[in-house]
Amino acid sequence: MPLVDGFGRVHKDLRVSLTDKCNLRCTYCMPEEGIDWISKAMHLTLEEIIRVVKILCAEGIEEIRLTGGEPLLRPDVVELVKALNKIESKPAISMTTNATRLDVLAQDLFDAGLSRLNISLDTLDREKFKELSRRDGLEETLSGINASIKAGFEPIKINAVLMRGINDDEALPLLDWAIENNLQLRFIEQMPLDAQHAWDRKQMISREEIYQALSKKYVLEPVGNRGADPAELFEVKGTVVKVGIIASVTEPFCGNCDRLRLTSDGQIRNCLFATEESDLRIPLRNGADDQILKEIILNNLAAKKKGHGIDDSNFVQPIRPMSAIGG
Ligand code: SAM
Ligand code: SF4
Repeated sequence: MPLVDGFGRVHKDLRVSLTDKCNLRCTYCMPEEGIDWISKAMHLTLEEIIRVVKILCAEGIEEIRLTGGEPLLRPDVVELVKALNKIESKPAISMTTNATRLDVLAQDLFDAGLSRLNISLDTLDREKFKELSRRDGLEETLSGINASIKAGFEPIKINAVLMRGINDDEALPLLDWAIENNLQLRFIEQMPLDAQHAWDRKQMISREEIYQALSKKYVLEPVGNRGADPAELFEVKGTVVKVGIIASVTEPFCGNCDRLRLTSDGQIRNCLFATEESDLRIPLRNGADDQILKEIILNNLAAKKKGHGIDDSNFVQPIRPMSAIGG
């Protein structure tokens, strides 16, 4: 039975957060310190994750995206990909990562059956990388990207968040680099999901600003038929590369949302911006059968709101930051 919410949206994409921990501290995501980490005991085990994923795949989930925090910090990540790859319905298995550990893990992940990679890279400048992520990680990230290309991942999508006064002059250099390396680049508008609750709409670099910056050098030709893709895609004329803009704030795409989320501590969330979630961890550990778990998931889905409501006067930012939800 398909996973349909109260607005008729069919859910096919499951984001699974493997951990809330990270080896970077991107300013739009995490504070430098003082984070309340989810304890080890609260993290779902590999077996618990597989059990929930199987239930959801039987109901129509077609893609499992592993995320976090930084999913590659989880020691059993390759084993998990292998186990997911054995699921009967053969969902696509993808990952969003900061790539810093891909130098070591890309080939094993590819061989284990990971099919798609989204890699976050906000700048090509070492000093700006340090300022943005509070770690000196540009070299590791770039070698992780190279290792992924070598391992055979295709296509690789690069995610970039532009921050005013820090890397907002990098839209074009990033696109030049993506074209040189034949990678798809997607800019994401900064969302109010930072742990510090410091998001300021006036500081956000909007879709329009990104489009204008790219248009100074390139002709962008819209690609139609977007479906549930959060990115508005453009062909970059004269190249084989596509560039996307994920305008979650200024041009929300909630009407076509097909995503459900499972946090690393076993909570089902129907939206990044949901203020309520449904616990699967305790029922899982108390011996609940699949039917009970399915009912919890379906009830959560039935309560999904029409939109994220960032523009509503009564908008409340979720307590969980992006790193603990799974982006
Ligand atoms: N650590 C991995 C990474 O950075 O790719 C996976 C988790 S991260 C939360 C997933 C994606 O969310 C990244 O592309 C990151 O840039 C994006 N992200 C994090 N905080 C964000 C925010 N406040 N607004 C928009 N995108 C954000
Ligand atoms: Fe870590 Fe990803 Fe958040 Fe950056 S965006 S701090 S890499 S979880």
